[in-house]
Amino acid sequence: MNRVLLLNATYEPICTVAMSRAIALLLQGKAQALACRPGEVVRSASESIDYPTVIRLERYIRLPYRRSAPLTRNGVLQRDNHTCIYCGRDGRTIDHIIPRSRGGDSSWLNLAACCQKCNNKKGDSLLAELGWRLRFSPHEPDYRTFYISKLTARRIEPAWSEWLSLKAA
Ligand SMILES: [Zn+2]
Repeated sequence: MNRVLLLNATYEPICTVAMSRAIALLLQGKAQALACRPGEVVRSASESIDYPTVIRLERYIRLPYRRSAPLTRNGVLQRDNHTCIYCGRDGRTIDHIIPRSRGGDSSWLNLAACCQKCNNKKGDSLLAELGWRLRFSPHEPDYRTFYISKLTARRIEPAWSEWLSLKAA
């Protein structure tokens, strides 16, 4: 993968850029590398530099206002890293934490990844009725973080994860 994660001066993720663009920003002094692949270099016409995976702009750029991410099934599964919110095992289904039949809505905060077993067991019950607890709190992902995680769903550069809230806290 030859994409580099670009962060604003405030360390906020903006987007991913092609390696050639990242190198140009570094060589022009417009960005600094925050993470590189150990032992790997990229050669340009005149220089060779450490292979960057995350770069940060020297100057803050103003971005359009934040939007919340569009709610999708895949978005919820990705946000939760395919981890069941109740038991922590592999979660491939989506559960309404407060069931629809009990007034729960379809929102980022009420939907979570869930394994088939927990989903079947839970049915239309409330957590309090089962004595279950959430293993993590669902959050509404930032639009850009969502966008970047979507772009990189198949293969996430390990160095990126600390800059993107891909794992629910
Ligand atoms: Zn489960």
